[in-house]
Amino acid sequence: MRTHPGIFTISLDFELYWGMRDVVSEEGYRSNLEGTPEAVRAMLSLFEKYDIHATWAIVGFLFFPDRDVLMRHLPEPRPVYRNAQFDLYRYLIENRQLDKTSHFAPELIERIAETPHQEIATHTFSHYYCLEEGQDAETFRADIRQATETTKRETGRQIRSIVFPRNQYNPDYLEILANEGIHTFRGNEHHPVYDASDWQGRGLHRRLVKLLDTYVNLTGYHTCAPSDLKRVGGLLDIPSSRFLRPYSPVFSLLDGLKLRRVKAAMTHAAKEGEVYHLWWHPHNFGKDREKNLMFLEKILEHYRMLRERYGMRSLTMEEIEKEVGC
Ligand SMILES: [Zn+2]
Repeated sequence: MRTHPGIFTISLDFELYWGMRDVVSEEGYRSNLEGTPEAVRAMLSLFEKYDIHATWAIVGFLFFPDRDVLMRHLPEPRPVYRNAQFDLYRYLIENRQLDKTSHFAPELIERIAETPHQEIATHTFSHYYCLEEGQDAETFRADIRQATETTKRETGRQIRSIVFPRNQYNPDYLEILANEGIHTFRGNEHHPVYDASDWQGRGLHRRLVKLLDTYVNLTGYHTCAPSDLKRVGGLLDIPSSRFLRPYSPVFSLLDGLKLRRVKAAMTHAAKEGEVYHLWWHPHNFGKDREKNLMFLEKILEHYRMLRERYGMRSLTMEEIEKEVGC
């Protein structure tokens, strides 16, 4: 039997091209990137309509209006990744012309901060890869400090939550975060296919299982009772329940299954008084915006029903951490 109402939490990794540079060319991702501002504004409207408290984990680079201003605010020391494809500082320094829509979003961040119940969290300053070679605790500390200072300067807010890029979670760094005032992070689903790994560890088999798991329940609901949330190195781990995979024409016939999978897990959380944690990147919605937003609205309608029927609540990661206490 449940003792507390269930909790619905959403976190968004807001990163634009910085989070995609090692995966796809800027040109190849153009339609997603160009559609992101509109997608963010539409998501904020939906969040207001359904009273959703969401956590926006923002890459620090996005706070700046352009490359020149960003170049005057770089942390010291900085990582030099052994694998150059992850080296966003090298990319930043070598590319004198960076397209604004793909790389910067101060106006959108302002809009997010002005919308009620939206938490400004961090996705690190530089989309930092915590498990790659060429970085260490010193460069991580400098990165996080720059992120917290930038957020405070631009929004007046203290960062309380973090989402690690690529969900590469390094337990050795949690103490650094706690010292910077960050109290919570989004952990991975508790199943071996969702464990954090470096780039080499991302096998085809795992990706296939994760894909199938979007449509059929292979690995469980990934919900968690608030009292079972673990504190690691002073930070509360609020694990992911599901990545909201964007619309794809190839899999569109399975969209009904995808929705059913999300809704079933949300209902389970509402009935059992557990936490359901959904996440995606705003740029996932940039392309096929209408379809993605319609899909999101169906999820939010389901949340509204669960709120009315079972008292489920929407909370940010920071709000969950405050409720769970020490
Ligand atoms: Zn990312």
